[in-house]
Amino acid sequence: MRPLDQLLHDIFGFSSFRGVQEEVVMRVMQARDTLAVMPTGAGKSLCYQLPAVALDGTAIVISPLIALMQDQVRSARANGIRAAALTSMSEDWRETQDRFQSGELDLLYVAPERATTDGFGRLLEQARISLFAVDEAHCVSEWGHDFRPDYRLLRPLLDHFGAPRLALTATADRRTRADILNQLGIAEDGLIVAGFDRPNIRYHVVPRQGLPAQLKALAKAHPGPGIVYCPSRAQTERVAEKMRAEGRSAAPYHAGLDKTVRAANQEAFVASEDMLVAATIAFGMGIDKPDVRFIAHAGLPKSIEAYYQETGRAGRDGDPAEAWLFWGAEDFARARRRIESEVEPARRPAERDRLNALAAFVEAATCRRAILLRHFGEDPPERCGNCDNCLHPPRTIDVTTIAQKILSAAFRTEMRFGIAYLAQVLGGDDNEKVRMNGHHALSVFGIMDGEELRFVRPVARSLMARDALRADDYGGLSFGPGAKAILKGEQAVEIAMPPRPPRGSRRVSAD
Ligand code: ADP
Ligand code: ZN
Repeated sequence: MRPLDQLLHDIFGFSSFRGVQEEVVMRVMQARDTLAVMPTGAGKSLCYQLPAVALDGTAIVISPLIALMQDQVRSARANGIRAAALTSMSEDWRETQDRFQSGELDLLYVAPERATTDGFGRLLEQARISLFAVDEAHCVSEWGHDFRPDYRLLRPLLDHFGAPRLALTATADRRTRADILNQLGIAEDGLIVAGFDRPNIRYHVVPRQGLPAQLKALAKAHPGPGIVYCPSRAQTERVAEKMRAEGRSAAPYHAGLDKTVRAANQEAFVASEDMLVAATIAFGMGIDKPDVRFIAHAGLPKSIEAYYQETGRAGRDGDPAEAWLFWGAEDFARARRRIESEVEPARRPAERDRLNALAAFVEAATCRRAILLRHFGEDPPERCGNCDNCLHPPRTIDVTTIAQKILSAAFRTEMRFGIAYLAQVLGGDDNEKVRMNGHHALSVFGIMDGEELRFVRPVARSLMARDALRADDYGGLSFGPGAKAILKGEQAVEIAMPPRPPRGSRRVSAD
């Protein structure tokens, strides 16, 4: 057999392996089961495609998304690899099955729900399998951010056929990794983790304060290609519109757009050197554009994993790139409500943990990169020198008393009011509504001075992020599990000094 380097060159045209690729490929060739955790862009496909060509038989690739499968098949074929997919979209089922059975395929892509059918099992019995590659393997874990029950049914298949298994994922914290190993029956020493650091990406996390102006400034500072992730389809349209009004080439991208429009927008973006795309999170998967200069989030991402993956689409060429996250307290309120109403009860604790990790990240006054890397199980230096908090260390301030006053006011007003109203009560605003509710007579009426009032919003945001305050559907703030300890003085509350004071008040920023 040709040495691996030769194969690498002949099949892919690459002169050397990157990072852990060689180690992973070697293990697969030696039939040792492996879980490879490699960040997006690290080159996971090669880890199974190369062995698939080198080994006898066909590699079965389990992949959750038809669109991704089709991309993979296309790019594999472009490298002369004999690849096919069995999906509802495939028109050449019969032919693919025949080629598979007569050993003429290097790679066969299939979705988990198909892989676990009896029919597919019978098909496998009649062919020679070189390896099982389980892509997006975090889908097997309930701890992962994208659990798919069908992945759980793969294990019997893997055990029955006994071919070497290679699980791949870009995003898995410690607990999810352990779970993947366990669920797929891979020994602990089969875990290979690539470094997650993307040193050329500069992270910024700031409260949303007049988003249009914030995005405008960003677009102005970055003439190169950028992606703005928006929480809703409507917002992608609005943002794209605004950017065009600023003279930028910009397009929206979301699942509700006509297929041809979407494809055209994506193509234009990939080809462009200055275009902006305002997109829902669907955008970027499977897109290989190395020169994206910034990624902005107009709202909270789903998890740290998702954030890492989405921001990871910036600066793949290694040149400086920026990630900007604009967040608001209402993002957390919405996310918490979703968990308590839409998520199945058994999965709620994991979802709450995920949201709390995200809250700690956005609230942090310490190095962002260190937090991200620790989340992925690395042991990074305390400071990276290339994130907002390292470049402009925020002054922190103890706001425990202010937090206690806000919580008391929420309690005294029966947890039915939002922060604007609570601020009126705390500030002693003797207006009609306050009077009608009789709240001018409360002990908390007027207990804050102007200095403290300036911190009401940032402190409330922080209380919501750490689940001490929860907003109901009507904006009323009630206690979350974290409230008691703060009220009793058992838990201090510190926040980074707010970057800009609200309109009309004196500047309080540290810089
Ligand atoms: P992932 O699935 O991990 O996000 P891909 O498999 O899509 O990554 O690879 C990302 C990019 O890196 C692709 O353009 C691929 O061709 C390129 N690539 C992968 N391995 C190498 C290598 N050893 N040398 C150079 N480029 C590589
Ligand atoms: Zn840093």
